[in-house]
Amino acid sequence: MSLSREQMLVEMGVAPIWVLRDAAEPAAEVETSAAAAAPVVAEKPSAAEPQPTARVAPVPPQQPVAADAIAALDWPELSTQVANCRACPLCQQRKQAVLGVGDRNPDWLFIGEGPGADEDVQGEPFVGQAGKLLDNMLAALDIARGNKVYIANAVKCRPPGNRTPEAAEMAACRPYLERQVTLLKPKIIVLLGKAAVHAVLHDDKSLASMRGKRFEYAGIPVVVTYHPAYLLRNLPDKSKAWEDLLFARRVLAEQAVPELPF
Ligand code: URA
Ligand code: SF4
Repeated sequence: MSLSREQMLVEMGVAPIWVLRDAAEPAAEVETSAAAAAPVVAEKPSAAEPQPTARVAPVPPQQPVAADAIAALDWPELSTQVANCRACPLCQQRKQAVLGVGDRNPDWLFIGEGPGADEDVQGEPFVGQAGKLLDNMLAALDIARGNKVYIANAVKCRPPGNRTPEAAEMAACRPYLERQVTLLKPKIIVLLGKAAVHAVLHDDKSLASMRGKRFEYAGIPVVVTYHPAYLLRNLPDKSKAWEDLLFARRVLAEQAVPELPF
């Protein structure tokens, strides 16, 4: 008997939780307010109350991060440094930097692109529509955010209008991601979408050509799959992402040290 992929997912009890409650409204992930993308500017003083220009706080120049110093930070220091970071232009419009969330002794590290509007407000990665789908993907694997799973992004500050982060922004933010990987020591890294692939593997090949292969970063196996926001717009590709996650699970299982019988 040969089952179709959809039938197989149903058989495995996976398909229902992959169905979005609100599949008809994938646009929720997309920036809806032009105002949110507008640069934050100091309010103009009224004509009646002239203010000395010295009272308008100047935007501090961007300060490159010292990768060596970051490589020595512990979690609280890393958290503080990211929260105050001004190393790239994304610092100018963020509400807050979003370091990451989850188990700091994880098997799985999922890396996305960068915070969106919801993440910028809540300070946690993947809490919007794409995040709901990611949670469902994790549930299909019988894992959950915070339990052997850590979630981070290639850039910690929201790109205005949810645009893709630029290569220079990802490069500026990379020392933080590197430090996270070193502190977390995950057993597998799953890269969600092209930006994460670019940030971690410095590879610009198509995702389609990289799926189902095992890459490596700092001695840790890396696999790639589609970004959940892409899957929201391309529902049929969810079955491919499911295949990728099963592949990742096999790669993770290969990492497990066999238990000695004595
Ligand atoms: N998309 C991402 O890549 N990361 C998030 O945290 C949210 C949406
Ligand atoms: Fe710093 Fe990264 Fe935010 Fe840029 S995106 S300001 S490098 S924390």
